[in-house]
Amino acid sequence: MRIECIAIGSELLTTKRLDTNSVWISERLAGLGLWLHRKTAVGDHREDLAELCQEAFRRSEVIICTGGLGPTFDDFTKEVWADTFGVELVEDTPSREDLVAWYAQRQRVPPPANFKQVLFPEGSKPLPNPLGTAPGVLWERGGKHIFLLPGVPREMKRMWLDQVEPRLKPLAGTPMHTLRVVVCGVPESTLDQRTETIRGRHSQLDWTILAGLTQVEFVVRSTDSALLDAARAELASELGEDLACVGSGDLESVVLDALKTRNETLAVAESMSGGLVASRLTAIPGASEVFAGGAVVYSASAKLVLTGIDPAILQKHGTISEPTTLALAKGIREKLNTTWGLAITGNAGPNLDSGGKDHQLGECVVAVVGPQSEETYTFLVSGDRLDIQLRGAARALDLLRRMLCRK
Ligand code: ATP
Ligand code: MG
Repeated sequence: MRIECIAIGSELLTTKRLDTNSVWISERLAGLGLWLHRKTAVGDHREDLAELCQEAFRRSEVIICTGGLGPTFDDFTKEVWADTFGVELVEDTPSREDLVAWYAQRQRVPPPANFKQVLFPEGSKPLPNPLGTAPGVLWERGGKHIFLLPGVPREMKRMWLDQVEPRLKPLAGTPMHTLRVVVCGVPESTLDQRTETIRGRHSQLDWTILAGLTQVEFVVRSTDSALLDAARAELASELGEDLACVGSGDLESVVLDALKTRNETLAVAESMSGGLVASRLTAIPGASEVFAGGAVVYSASAKLVLTGIDPAILQKHGTISEPTTLALAKGIREKLNTTWGLAITGNAGPNLDSGGKDHQLGECVVAVVGPQSEETYTFLVSGDRLDIQLRGAARALDLLRRMLCRK
């Protein structure tokens, strides 16, 4: 069954607003074992929408439109669909009564333009909108389903859950299960090779490998959860410590969970990443139980004052060096009296400020100090300034994660 979404609204074609409706709908469909085959965003232009409605009706069995149900001149979704099939718009009396009652409750009468909202293509069925004034539409034509929903995400979601999902359920397939496996610090091509045999053995599963800025994800889908469990076990044994997390979490949640389990705490001193490690950690609710805080030690004086490191180390080795970064991790750990200390320095470019010694663009140094172990590690990442900072921060978190999972 082919399903497509049409997001209607000129603002969706600009930087002002992202079409989040279709993304949400695709998630909901996946939960029903249904797949979105196509999505389109179209501006508030009758001709463009009319063309798209015709194409969509030709190629898809279920069409879900959001937006353009309101009272203003640029809202004409129902009109265009009515024109597509050459039918008139007719008033629905119960919807008119609902509209008048909605306004009466607020001691108002509906503006004349709002009565446009209670007109529906002949042969379609109104779908009540409990959170707004624009009802939706269900139109079953030639064995196909056309749903017209409001653009306002809150209203659309409520109507989807109450009125669309119950109607799609009987059409649904077997729900898909998803296995998500996240790896950080291993190139995509290496992962591709290392998992080739496993993917071959489990070729009946639907495999996707997604390389992001700071991590690589495997997304594996199947209607059979036992098959996914088997694949997960094989991936875990092949990847070992390189497997950062399984399921919906990310590096930061894995690190925080590991610290909570061990009843340990963390402090960070960030130079090149400017606070990105702290930002990732504090984005997770409950981080305060184990994350004490830290400092953005950007200048030499901030490094000395906030972590109390020996100026001679900085003098001798420069900022981007293993001895200095290690000293920063130890310093912040001592200052905040935590179990673990993490520090990161590096050159995010474009200008070098590395205390005289030349460093390559993207060179990063991370150090992690714990109760029984300390590690420093120098590596190179690519990209523009923000990419380098984000990648450095992720690798720093990943080093900590690896050390936490070793014991
Ligand atoms: P209605 O059908 O209820 O009139 P509409 O889209 O015609 O909806 P708008 O005023 O254009 O009414 O949109 C309402 C709000 O919803 C706006 O802030 C708009 O940007 C937002 N919106 C519309 N479509 C989407 C979408 N696909 N994803 C996210 N936000 C959307
Ligand atoms: Mg609109």
